[in-house]
Amino acid sequence: MAITVKKVDRNVTMTLWERSYIPEMTRGMIITMKHFVVNLAGLALEVVGGKRHRKIMTIYYPEENPVIPPAYRGRPALVRAENGQEKCVACGLCEVACPPRCISIVGGERENGERYPVSYTLDGSRCIFCGLCEEACPKEAIVMSHDWKNLCEHDRSKMIYDKETLLYPERNLKKRLNVIREKYFNAKLYHKPSEKD
Ligand code: SF4
Ligand code: SF4
Repeated sequence: MAITVKKVDRNVTMTLWERSYIPEMTRGMIITMKHFVVNLAGLALEVVGGKRHRKIMTIYYPEENPVIPPAYRGRPALVRAENGQEKCVACGLCEVACPPRCISIVGGERENGERYPVSYTLDGSRCIFCGLCEEACPKEAIVMSHDWKNLCEHDRSKMIYDKETLLYPERNLKKRLNVIREKYFNAKLYHKPSEKD
């Protein structure tokens, strides 16, 4: 794509009328009022007809919920595989990759020699939703879920999430998993996990 340069004229002289900001404030208020009237009319039509007519993104939360795009990064979630076990092998890569150091893991070994996290703790009050834990994970075991509700607390100690709170069934995370697979596939960084994985 060609790069275009926009020249800004810094020597522009404004008239006294323009320097009063009245024309620009009036223009802004007209746009605000236009959206208000259109949205109000849309809401009235919706109440009468039951069909959505609003043209702008205002929603009436909590009665209405926003449509979450597939690439949205909500609270990090640990993936629970179909067999009920976590996919995490406690390698610690996410812990190292996390910029605010909000993950801490204690690893262990099952009788069959498989590694797993005995405990996995994530401090939600420090998480910046950057997704680097997801990028670092070689097992698709931690992904950014679409969980955006109830992430705030008055007491920060209630935002320390343990393993059981973070575990989500894999089927609930499919949309996000598809997004990251496509992203890494396009960047030639993704290979389809084999049966052994
Ligand atoms: S999203 Fe970023 S800040 Fe949050 S746990 Fe993952 S790496 Fe850490
Ligand atoms: S990078 Fe993945 S497999 Fe490794 S500890 Fe983190 S969640 Fe578990």
